[in-house]
Amino acid sequence: MTSPTRTTNTESQSANRTADRAQVMPTAEGWEQQRTSEGRPLLQFASPRAKQPPQHLADLSLEERQAKLKELGLPAFRAKQLSTHYFQHWTTDPEAMSDLPKAGREELASAVFPPLLTEVRRLRTDDGNTIKVLWRLFDGALVESVLMRYPGRITLCVSSQAGCGMNCPFCATGQAGLTRNMSAAEIVDQVVAANRLIVAGELGTPEHDQERVTNIVFMGMGEPLANYKRVMNAVHRFVDPVPMGLGMSARNITVSTVGLVPAIRKLADEDLPVTFALSLHAPDDELRDELIPVNNRWKVDEALDAAYDYYAKTGRRVSIEYALIKDMNDHAWRAALLAKKLNERGRGWVHVNPIPLNPTPGSIWTSSERPVQQEFIETLRAAGVPTTLRDTRGKEIDGACGQLAAAE
Ligand code: SF4
Repeated sequence: MTSPTRTTNTESQSANRTADRAQVMPTAEGWEQQRTSEGRPLLQFASPRAKQPPQHLADLSLEERQAKLKELGLPAFRAKQLSTHYFQHWTTDPEAMSDLPKAGREELASAVFPPLLTEVRRLRTDDGNTIKVLWRLFDGALVESVLMRYPGRITLCVSSQAGCGMNCPFCATGQAGLTRNMSAAEIVDQVVAANRLIVAGELGTPEHDQERVTNIVFMGMGEPLANYKRVMNAVHRFVDPVPMGLGMSARNITVSTVGLVPAIRKLADEDLPVTFALSLHAPDDELRDELIPVNNRWKVDEALDAAYDYYAKTGRRVSIEYALIKDMNDHAWRAALLAKKLNERGRGWVHVNPIPLNPTPGSIWTSSERPVQQEFIETLRAAGVPTTLRDTRGKEIDGACGQLAAAE
């Protein structure tokens, strides 16, 4: 048993550590956040009117594909053959489609598989286990995906929008605002392209010869729930059985948001047991209003209520993402407040993932010190909240997820 004296000492040390700590407030470094006339950071929920990419097979359900082929004057069963090439063999090359009549094969392939992603740059970590690809879309917009090998799983971090309208002061993606929503097929094609890279032996040492992307996280560019319809369409393509879709498990797909409450509630009603992650990063509105501007629309408690209701409806445990930023959001009292808010709503429904940022000397967006990280984690655990310090793989190639990436 801990003696009262020791407890008091530990408490006062902890209190001192906290009392001595500064409060750094968020501000954009090296760029100006767009503001409204009332001085609030500007939020863009709707995509500007922009030309959409050509329709692709992956935009359509199997029935829609069959209808499209009929429109092209072809039998509906060709839809299944084309789907098998794309969703099972990850190919759009007419040469490989020997089950289709040679005459007109090329025209057909280019009608249903217009090229959506053009590789601009590929960066790989030294061990080859992480690859970041920068893609150019049909209209010149740039997005990226990050492919990561872990023991027993391969995760792809995908983008869902070109740019982002959420204007978070730490995020490079948000700086230029939202260019446009990505189409479902542009999202799906990132996964198909990643599968091709894996098959080509580009991602480290294979564990077996049937490897493919097993997990998807929507933590690349964009706020996925601001592009709700297309993101859901893409999720259906991920989980629909082969050859309708990629045949992945919904639980291995993580949809993450900064807290678009009505969309979280809609997601809970979808009957798709995806994993849901809330990028919270602060438990108090005073800080979160500045750190995550969408908090001006939906407050911490509203976002946590919606997250809890997601758990209640789906039975899927929710993840809370929390980037630990030195002297900004890493105070022990914030860990205690977060634990209190989570526990008030129930036990066993949530898991917290603190994520240390990269050390960035001279920037306010820098990593918390080790003992502070530890204190934060211990405070949550002591309150009974399951907490795991997250792997921040990919940072050495600046491939950390957009939701978390500090401006550098
Ligand atoms: S952190 Fe996420 S939500 Fe915020 S601006 Fe960046 S991409 Fe958008």
